[in-house]
Amino acid sequence: MRRKLAAGNWKMHGSVSALAELTTLAAQIDPQGCETVICPPATLLFHACQLVTSTDIAIGAQCCHPQPHGPFTGDVSARMIAETGASYVIAGHSERRDRYAETDAEVQAQIRAAWRENLTAILCVGESGEDRQAGITLDTIATQLAGSLPDGANGENVVIAYEPIWAIGTGDVPTLAQIGEVHDFIRAQLVRRFGDTQGKTIRLLYGGSVKPSNAADIFTAENVDGALVGGASLQAADFLPIIQALNDA
Ligand code: PEP
Repeated sequence: MRRKLAAGNWKMHGSVSALAELTTLAAQIDPQGCETVICPPATLLFHACQLVTSTDIAIGAQCCHPQPHGPFTGDVSARMIAETGASYVIAGHSERRDRYAETDAEVQAQIRAAWRENLTAILCVGESGEDRQAGITLDTIATQLAGSLPDGANGENVVIAYEPIWAIGTGDVPTLAQIGEVHDFIRAQLVRRFGDTQGKTIRLLYGGSVKPSNAADIFTAENVDGALVGGASLQAADFLPIIQALNDA
């Protein structure tokens, strides 16, 4: 049985005062419902972790450096993230693959580092608009999974987020059939590689312009165990109805 998961990626948004959204969220989420994770910017991780102690919200980072420490100006390691009290880290978000040229091999190294610190990785995969038009969506996903997901993945140490790049922050959302096709494909790849038991315990999230208005629909697609939400996770008033829709699905 896979517990549903609503994860919010704040990207480079938020401030100390915005952490009040966590308190609002914590007061209203159903502890029997889906798991809720918020990934604020690195500067807010420690404070956020303190705030959510004894609530049902977990905290995650948005990326990590594979080395525990070293001469990497501006980077934050998985070890440093774990020390804040966070329990998740996003790996391979398309904004990092694209703007910081993170390769599948680097993403895989980040996930291994996350595991060494007992962090659960949220691995992002997804095709560009050009890939979809060229009919190579599933090939892209297969390549990303093979290259960035380490051996030893299981339902505890990794979550996979399918995030079509063309749907992120654009308001464009794939059809339910398109989401279902990719999620079924990812599930089949996981089962083939890790076996029936492990392959079926790994949660699959959809991400890309999830809003209160479309969440219930998206959660009816095949093999969708939750969502990775950007813009609509910044305000509790937007994120709560998405969480509710997931609980109701
Ligand atoms: C994201 O960046 O992971 C994301 C899904 O963003 P948005 O929900 O804003 O499209």
